[in-house]
Amino acid sequence: MDSFSNFAFLLPITMALFAVVFLVIGGLGHAAARAWGLAFLFGALCYLAPLLPIAIPLQALFANAAILVSFYYYGEALLRHFGAPRLTGLRLVFSLIAYGMIIVTVVGIDSLQLTLLSSDVAVALLLGVPLLMVIRRAHTAMDRVLVGVAGVVLLDIVVRLIVFNVLVGISQELSDFANSSYTFYMQVSVGVLSVAFALAGLGSVAFAQLDTYRHAAEQDPLTGLLNRRGFDSAVASLSMAQRVAGVVMACDVDNFKQVNDSFGHASGDLVLAGLADLLLSRLPSSALVARFGGEEFVVFLPDMPLASGAALGQSIRADFSARDWRAAGVHRQITMSLGVAAPAGTESSLHDALARADRALYAAKTAGRNQVMIDAGEAYVPGLRIVPAA
Ligand code: GH3
Ligand code: MG
Ligand code: MG
Repeated sequence: MDSFSNFAFLLPITMALFAVVFLVIGGLGHAAARAWGLAFLFGALCYLAPLLPIAIPLQALFANAAILVSFYYYGEALLRHFGAPRLTGLRLVFSLIAYGMIIVTVVGIDSLQLTLLSSDVAVALLLGVPLLMVIRRAHTAMDRVLVGVAGVVLLDIVVRLIVFNVLVGISQELSDFANSSYTFYMQVSVGVLSVAFALAGLGSVAFAQLDTYRHAAEQDPLTGLLNRRGFDSAVASLSMAQRVAGVVMACDVDNFKQVNDSFGHASGDLVLAGLADLLLSRLPSSALVARFGGEEFVVFLPDMPLASGAALGQSIRADFSARDWRAAGVHRQITMSLGVAAPAGTESSLHDALARADRALYAAKTAGRNQVMIDAGEAYVPGLRIVPAA
């Protein structure tokens, strides 16, 4: 066995090992990892072809089937990772047509050159079209690495296609194929690139999983809003200028314990989810909306004067109190109270403003609930109180 055959022997083993790793991760419910696993598994299977005790044309058909399935799944992995439309039917039909052409070139025309041409064009499209579809979705550094490596894999196929099919030409003898320069170049480039592709794929799977956990850790499961941790980390990413140019709002459902006691906890949950929907629909998309626990919600409105924030709060309060909750099993009016405050220019965090919004909220509760109170600074200023509509 010369060094070239040694190398060729290593490639399917490496690919099979990556396939196992991806399939194990895929077994945990990660769909993109499953696609990566199948891509590497069929990539490895392709190299079994010369070992099979069957005629050479049948080996070629086996290898080409495996390589088509492999690239079908590379495309699938990219589309799944980036959440792009998967075009399953289209890609399946295209793969079948490509395989039909390969059968014709192997069995009918018996031309190695045409077989390789069809196969290279097919795999270039099976990878290239999904790559084009996801390229604009790569925003993180890891995603850009993935797209970059996929681009190099595609480039390698295209260069091989042009150099060996068009410029150099290759032996027509299928029996020479294993020893051809085409095969050598392919083994070297595929060897290096498949490791790079696998590592980029693994990195993207790991980052996607971490992102899922981070997202879950920062989200309130009942309402889908940010939780306190998510709110804090979103606030931390704002500049000082953005923080002081906004308004903080603290909202609390009035007598919510009675809603639970009279209509059940499940109905109470529906009210909380309904309030979250109301907040999201009425607040600007730039607002940070969080449920801090229980029936208390906190909002940060960037780029808004205090008076506008208070007016918006007043309008949402009115909407909430007018809402019919019968579909949630609650047969009475529900109201909420709000406290609004703006960070002082010197504050580097929103926490002080939040404490003052809370104090205004408490004042709204003691003043009879179902109203909005503003805290205008050091002291609570009664003159700025907004009296609720009758
Ligand atoms: P106030 O007008 O002073 O705010 O009175 P309240 O009854 O709304 O306030 P209190 O703090 O006494 O009660 C809050 C209730 O919120 C108590 C608790 O059972 C309920 N609660 C907290 N979290 C949840 C939740 O996730 N789902 C439901 N359904 N109820 C919750
Ligand atoms: Mg309450
Ligand atoms: Mg409360």
